[in-house]
Amino acid sequence: MRRNYKHIGFFITGVFLFLSATAFKNNSAPPKEDVNDINVHVESPYFAKSNIKDGPYFFLEDNHVTVKWIYKNRPVERHIYGRNFNVVKRKFGFEFNYDWIKQDLTTQPNYVQRFNNVDKIIALSDVHGQYDVLVKLLKQFNVIDDQFNWSFGNGHLVILGDMMDRGAKVTEALWLIYRLEKQAETAGGKVHFLLGNHEIMVLNSDARYIHEKYLTTARLFETTYDKLYSENNLIGNWLRKKPVMVTINDMLFVHAGVSEDFVLNGYTRSGTNKLFTENIVGNSWKEILTNQTLSFLMGNKGPVWYRGYFEDTTLTEEKINNILNYFGIDHIIVGHTSMPNIVTLFDNKIFGIDSSIKLGDYGEVFIYENGRYSRGSTSGTIMDL
Ligand code: ZN
Repeated sequence: MRRNYKHIGFFITGVFLFLSATAFKNNSAPPKEDVNDINVHVESPYFAKSNIKDGPYFFLEDNHVTVKWIYKNRPVERHIYGRNFNVVKRKFGFEFNYDWIKQDLTTQPNYVQRFNNVDKIIALSDVHGQYDVLVKLLKQFNVIDDQFNWSFGNGHLVILGDMMDRGAKVTEALWLIYRLEKQAETAGGKVHFLLGNHEIMVLNSDARYIHEKYLTTARLFETTYDKLYSENNLIGNWLRKKPVMVTINDMLFVHAGVSEDFVLNGYTRSGTNKLFTENIVGNSWKEILTNQTLSFLMGNKGPVWYRGYFEDTTLTEEKINNILNYFGIDHIIVGHTSMPNIVTLFDNKIFGIDSSIKLGDYGEVFIYENGRYSRGSTSGTIMDL
C-alpha cells in the first residue's frame, strides 16, 4: 500500500552510470587518527580500533556512498565514489565488496522462504548487541573461523531476531551477520536473518530500548537513531527485506511464535512476510493500530510478540498439533522469551532458543545435524535435546 523503492531505483541507475564513467576517486591524504590507533584487541580482527566508537554506517546517495563513523567523540564522514572501500578495511578491519550493494538493491524480498534438504542448521536468538557472546558461539561451533569468515560450508545459520536494542555492540553484530550472509551464499550455505520485535521497533522509530551509546551516535550525527537505519542506509535497506517466518525442512522459525488465533484467522507464512515487509516495517504506529490485520500481527498473539508456549497454561499438546498440522510441519523454533538455556516444550515440538545472550556472559546455539537436535554452549559443550 505505502511503500516503494523508487529512489532506490534512482540510486542503482545513478551508481551504474557513475561507475561506467569513473574508475574510482580516492579520498585525500590518510586521516590523522590512523597514527593514534595502536590499541588493537588481539581477539578480533574486526572493529579493533579502540578510538572508533561506532560505525560504519553506509548511506547510499545518488552517485556515491557516504560512510560515517564516530571517532573518539566526533563524527567522521567519507564519500566513496566507485568501488574503493579501502577506508573500511583500514578503519574497521573488514573487506567490503562493492558488489554486495548491487546485490542488495536488486534483490527482491522472498516472501515464501522455504528451504528443503538442509543437513546442518545452527540457530540463535536475541543477541541484543552482545557481539562478543555471538562471536564466541559462532567460533565455538565453527560457523566462523579465526578471521571471522564463514566456515560452515553448506550449513544454514538462523538468526532468530532481536539482534538490535539493549546492548552496546549492535553495529558490529549486524555487520558480521551481513558479511556472513554474503560469504555463505558463495559457499553454498545460507544465513537467515529474521526480524524480531526489536528490529521493527527501531525501524518504526521507537528508540526506547537503545543503548545510550547509540543516543550519543545519533546526537553527534545530528539525527535520530531510526534514521541511521533509514531506507537509504545499507543495513537499514537490507533489514527491510528480511522475513518474519522461515521454513527449513519440517521446522518453522519465527521470532516469538504462532498462536492458535493466528491459525484461526487463516494467516499464511508468505502472506505474513509480505504484510510485514510492505505494511508494518517502517510504518507508523497510528497506521498499524487502525488496521485490524496489522494490529493483530503486531499484537501479543502475533508472530513477533507472542509468549503463549511459555506462559499460556491452557495450551495443550493437541492445540500445538493443530498449529503444526495447519502448516504441515513438525517443529516450531522461537526466541523472544528468555530462558537460562535452550528449552524443549511439548515433546520437542517447540524449541525455545532465547538463551539469555542479552545478559552478556553466556549463550547457547540450537543445533540440528543428522536428524538430531542439541544445544551447544559458549564453552563448547553439546547437550542433546
Ligand atoms: Zn523479542
